[in-house]
Amino acid sequence: MKILQMIRCICKANIVEVLNGNGWYYICCPNCARTVRPVEGKYSCTQCPRADIQYTQRVVVRGEDDSGTTTFTLFNKEAEQIIGVPIQTLLSEEGEKQPMKDLPTAIKNLIGRQCAFQIKVTTYNMTHGCEEYTVTRVTDCSSPSTTPNNPMEEENRKKKQKCD
Ligand SMILES: [Zn+2]
Repeated sequence: MKILQMIRCICKANIVEVLNGNGWYYICCPNCARTVRPVEGKYSCTQCPRADIQYTQRVVVRGEDDSGTTTFTLFNKEAEQIIGVPIQTLLSEEGEKQPMKDLPTAIKNLIGRQCAFQIKVTTYNMTHGCEEYTVTRVTDCSSPSTTPNNPMEEENRKKKQKCD
C-alpha cells in the first residue's frame, strides 16, 4: 500500500514574526537552479558563467493560531502577493549593497496580518516533525476586499464556518 506523499491544508494564522536568519531572498541561476554566492563581489554561476542570475524571494514567517505557532515559507509569487511589492522594487528601495541585513519595511509590515495559508504537508514534515511549511497559496484575511471572487476565500469561509 502506498502512503500519501503529500497533502494540502489551509491554516489561518496571525503573522507574529518574520524570520530573517537566511535573508529574505536568495540568488540562484535560472539555468541550473544552483544558489549563487558572490565571488569578489560579483554574482555569477560557477557552472554556467554565461547565465544571468535570478533573485528569488523567500520569506519565512511565524504564524500563530489558537493551537500554537508554526513556520511558513513563502516564495516569489506568494511572497509578493502578501507583501504587495515586487522583489525588484524592494531591492531597489533598500539598495543592493547590504539588502540582507535588514528586512524591508514592506516585509516587516506583514507582522500582525492575518492570512490563510494553503500549505503542502510532505512526508518529510510528518516523519521529521519539521514544522516549516511551504506555502502554495495565500490569502490576506485582514483585507478581504482586495481579493474579490477568490475561490480560496470561499474555501476559507467554509472552513471557518466549520471551525467556528
Ligand atoms: Zn548555473
